[in-house]
Amino acid sequence: MILTSLIGRESATAEAREHEVSRNPSDGSELFTFAHASLDDVDAAVASARRGMNMPEWRDLTPDHRGKLLWRVSELIEEHLDELALMDSNDAGMPLAMSRAVNVPLAAQVFRYYAGFATKIEGRLSQVSIPNTLHYTTREPIGVCALITPWNVPLAIAAWKLAPALATGNTAILKPAEQAVWSTLRLVEICREAGIPGEVVQVLLGGPEIGQALVRHRDVDKVSFTGSTEVGCQIVSDVAPTLKRVSLELGGKAPSIVTASADIDQAIMGNLRGALFNSGQACGAYTRTFVHRSRADEFAERIAEAAKQMRVGHATREDTELGPLITGGQVDRVLSYIEGARAEGADLVCGGRVLAEDGLELGHFLEPTVLMNVEDHMRIAQEEVFGPVISILPFDDEDEVIARANSSDYGLAAVVWTKDLVLAHTMAKRLRAGTVFVNLLPLIDPGAPWGGFGLSGWGREMGAFAIDEFTEPKGVFIGLEP
Ligand code: NAD
Repeated sequence: MILTSLIGRESATAEAREHEVSRNPSDGSELFTFAHASLDDVDAAVASARRGMNMPEWRDLTPDHRGKLLWRVSELIEEHLDELALMDSNDAGMPLAMSRAVNVPLAAQVFRYYAGFATKIEGRLSQVSIPNTLHYTTREPIGVCALITPWNVPLAIAAWKLAPALATGNTAILKPAEQAVWSTLRLVEICREAGIPGEVVQVLLGGPEIGQALVRHRDVDKVSFTGSTEVGCQIVSDVAPTLKRVSLELGGKAPSIVTASADIDQAIMGNLRGALFNSGQACGAYTRTFVHRSRADEFAERIAEAAKQMRVGHATREDTELGPLITGGQVDRVLSYIEGARAEGADLVCGGRVLAEDGLELGHFLEPTVLMNVEDHMRIAQEEVFGPVISILPFDDEDEVIARANSSDYGLAAVVWTKDLVLAHTMAKRLRAGTVFVNLLPLIDPGAPWGGFGLSGWGREMGAFAIDEFTEPKGVFIGLEP
């Protein structure tokens, strides 16, 4: 069977389209073939989404009814939890335990959260000084939204764009990353099973050229993008002629500050999991671990011991803690960062090797790696690595570590490990990041804004912030002259 885009109420044809085989990053096995959308398919999907905006059964739906549809989607996601969790494990190499416990439940939770929001999108009465005039504001849907997503957490990221886009009455065209399309396609089918019209939620399968065609399309009103900073910058220049609305969730280089007052056991486990979940292929991963010099040697030794115990394996195995990287190219890229750091003077404490034995021969596996004495100027401390690497950077005092943590061009997430309440709040205030965690893993919750400063992007997802991102304010003046 060949998977195809879902355009309007139909599946697109697979004929006369480029076909691509999706392979399992754990063992290279063939999962399915999918047909890339054509540029004509992009036009057809946009035209259909425009029709959707004007269809009475969507445009005039009551907020309560829209909320009900979203709630039904959340129920269906939960009913299909195992199926969806396995899809992303097979397709994206996400460990099954994470896919089951985080990826799929978060997708359902986001739909439930925005189901409640559909009836709470409010304007306000404005105090204008024009005599005998009433002024109020409403929030209107923006229109046709292109939702372009990366491969690392496919289902949850698609859901956290789609749910607020629909709650606010827009129509959506999803464009999942070509490396992992499966669960997004299934999510769109689920939306249709829930009763959302085909014109309202569509999916286009394909690579960057399909994303770019959506971004440049004159009849797309909004682009919500999650992916690399490089592509985010390209999108900004591509939307210039149409000035369509854009929100960007881009890369990160999160500092993790282990203070002298940290609970060292908690900090070790927190950094191990915060850096290595999804094999480090996460925008919020803790990739610069600043450890107070008084604790640095102990920290490095103990986190390396814990890293060596991690169960590396096929993503669909129940007990796998560290799955594969997405492609062989990604393994080479991560290795080049490790080698580069060593050449620049960092010490390898453990890892740094490709794993290609004991059943791992056909996948893209890398040992969990710990590097000590990494310095701020090294490439590994500046660029996104997206691999299972913990870089330890010793520090001496608080002012110094805040300045060093903030010296990145990214500003997505940061974490502080301390038992000192005053220090926790002081550091949270001084860190330049969209989200600061204290003694926690990089968690995402529908009620809390997610997004970053600087090269980490524009705008925020989740919470009421996403409602603003998917609506335009409209002001209405009413003359009350008797
Ligand atoms: P990517 O930027 O290569 O691709 C992301 C998506 O954009 C894919 O669907 C791709 O086909 C599409 N695309 C590529 N070129 C395009 C163009 N010119 N115009 C429009 N669309 C285009 O990213 P990736 O490798 O899939 O994902 C990894 C990146 O995503 C990392 O940088 C990571 O930090 C980032 N990310 C950020 C967040 C966040 O919330 N900030 C979350 C997850 C991942």
